Amino acid sequence: MKQQAVVVGGGIVGIFSAIYLKGFYRDVVLIEKEERLGGLLTSYQDHSAISYDYGTHIPCQTNIPEIDSIVFDYMPEREWEIFEQLKVGNYFNGIYNDKTGFPNLLSLPRSIYTEGIVDFLNGGHANSEYENLKQYLTAVYGDIFSKEVYEPIMHKLLNKSTEQLHINAFKIFDIKRLVVGDVNLTKELKKSELIDSKCAFPTYEIGASSNLKYYPKNNKGIKKWIDTLEKKAREEGINVKIGTTIQEIKYDREYITSIMLDNGEVFSPEKVVWTIPNQFLLRDIETPFTKFTPLEFREMRLYNFNFNKQFKVKEHYIYCFDNKLHSYRITLYPNLTESLVKQNIFNCTVEVLTQVNNQISSDCILNELITMGIIDKTYEVVNSSVCSIEKGFPIFTPEIVNNMKESVEILTEKVKNLVLLGKGKGDAFFMVDSLREAYEVLSSKNEG
Ligand SMILES: Cc1cc2nc3c(=O)[nH]c(=O)nc-3n(C[C@H](O)[C@H](O)[C@H](O)COP(=O)(O)OP(=O)(O)OC[C@H]3O[C@@H](n4cnc5c(N)ncnc54)[C@H](O)[C@@H]3O)c2cc1C
Repeated sequence: MKQQAVVVGGGIVGIFSAIYLKGFYRDVVLIEKEERLGGLLTSYQDHSAISYDYGTHIPCQTNIPEIDSIVFDYMPEREWEIFEQLKVGNYFNGIYNDKTGFPNLLSLPRSIYTEGIVDFLNGGHANSEYENLKQYLTAVYGDIFSKEVYEPIMHKLLNKSTEQLHINAFKIFDIKRLVVGDVNLTKELKKSELIDSKCAFPTYEIGASSNLKYYPKNNKGIKKWIDTLEKKAREEGINVKIGTTIQEIKYDREYITSIMLDNGEVFSPEKVVWTIPNQFLLRDIETPFTKFTPLEFREMRLYNFNFNKQFKVKEHYIYCFDNKLHSYRITLYPNLTESLVKQNIFNCTVEVLTQVNNQISSDCILNELITMGIIDKTYEVVNSSVCSIEKGFPIFTPEIVNNMKESVEILTEKVKNLVLLGKGKGDAFFMVDSLREAYEVLSSKNEG
């Protein structure tokens, strides 16, 4: 057994990495700067003790047994709702669709659909050679859908034109596929591998992953998952350091030799797993890399409401791609768990991607819920609150993505005992992808 590994960053990637590495290292230290673990995966309780999550966070199994046995080890049915399928809706072009989370192109004006579908069907293979998102979307989805569908959606979400964005910018939203026809037509179209990758069934009942998904019962919020994992980490003997961060890193002949925390503790790890942005690591190992462009973010504003009665729709969450509305995604908690209905809690979170200090009022968001048909004018707000994640969604421009790639290459080359994962690597955004990537990298480094 090896001696010591230090994991920096106590989000889900850091927690998983620490528990996984405990099987191979006598001593594993997990360093988190906040007073709690979980990073973006957390919940907030309002003054009446009702829980809201920071965004739709419904953990999904990865289908890799080594990961799932760590992060979904103990999920008893009395405490967890378990889903094979999530009910996802969307609002696009003024139409509420209760069957799919993907934009339905049949809601476009007939002439645009008819013209666009030809280009769409003739579109090329996705590759990463395009200079910007516009080129990629035009090549893959055709000029018309690129302009009429993606341009307004990306503008709404990131306030940039597709020409200013890297193709990764759209991969963090669930819009890689579009609905272009009914089930039978889609089945036919999907026989082509090329079209399959960009075409969605018009209902989530067909084709969606059946990997199990979990949501806590009884108003616990997704923080419950992190609490369970933190308990497990501590029970397995991981040295969890919260409320502390790195003061100094010593680097000698291609190895990080010591890490000093701001509380004065010093570690001399054989392995360092870095799950947070890597700029300050670059600075600490004194590389000549000076042109780092800081990542730009869209602020995520979370509008939380609790109403006096159950929602008019049954979906677990809904994407709003309509660029006339500010809302991006709405999570309807009592649709996820009946246990809330029994407690007369009818709460939801509306995520809005915006810029810092852009004051969109709660009344405006309430009106949008009415417009979408999620509530009507007879609903009363029992309580409401607003919170923000300043660094909510990253805005990937070509320059930033190239910078990130270069910094990862430099660090990987220069520091032999360093593993970059999650935000340190910058490739994955969604939980499942981030966990799979962490497992693949750690197991390939002969830890497993
Ligand atoms: C609003 C929103 C909605 C989302 N919705 C979904 C979704 O529906 N489905 C999905 O799969 N994914 C979703 N995601 C993405 C998901 O949250 C991430 O995949 C996941 O949280 C990434 O985990 P992580 O450990 O890489 O990073 P983080 O959760 O960011 O964790 C990083 C941790 O490192 C800590 N840290 C930072 N700097 C330091 C330092 N100097 N020293 C020590 N610790 C430090 C941070 O405090 C944090 O705890 C969403 C993200 C956002 C913002």
